[in-house]
Amino acid sequence: MRIAKVIDEKKNNLDTYSKKYEPRGKRVRPLTTKQIEGSAKVFCQKFNIDDKFPDKFYDFIDELSSKLNVSIEIVDDDTWGFHVTNGHYDPSSFTIRLPERIVNQATQTKDKDLMSEALEVVFHELGHFTLAHTAVLHDAGDRPLNSQEDAEVQADVFAESVLFYIGLKSPQMEFDF
Ligand SMILES: [Zn+2]
Repeated sequence: MRIAKVIDEKKNNLDTYSKKYEPRGKRVRPLTTKQIEGSAKVFCQKFNIDDKFPDKFYDFIDELSSKLNVSIEIVDDDTWGFHVTNGHYDPSSFTIRLPERIVNQATQTKDKDLMSEALEVVFHELGHFTLAHTAVLHDAGDRPLNSQEDAEVQADVFAESVLFYIGLKSPQMEFDF
């Protein structure tokens, strides 16, 4: 059954924290899903992020730089080129760089799936900022990285939580561990 298989694969992807975990990012301070969800909630309250968010996207960018001193730079698609990622966060300058196409995709509301995908990129990068992914811990010896201390997994959980407040994710799609 093709459909059942697709659903199964999707479910596995969401279970990043448990069964099939493979390290993806740098080691950072461990955080539980609950802690990350808490940060996402505070963040959404601070910036009044709700289901009207996509219309407020550019105001949000201005607010980010005035309230948190983090800037979002929109990079021309040609300049971005074939960069492997859709977004980038530079912790040394508190700058998030996004290709123009992702910003356009995030603000067009006709296709919710495309919008959701782009907003996930935006809030993933903001997750790195909000969860203070600056220092990488080097004192863990040979102990393998676990999911709670993987910067990329944490940023994904943050993005999923924010998308819930925008009304683009349902609560049962949240991570559990
Ligand atoms: Zn990342």
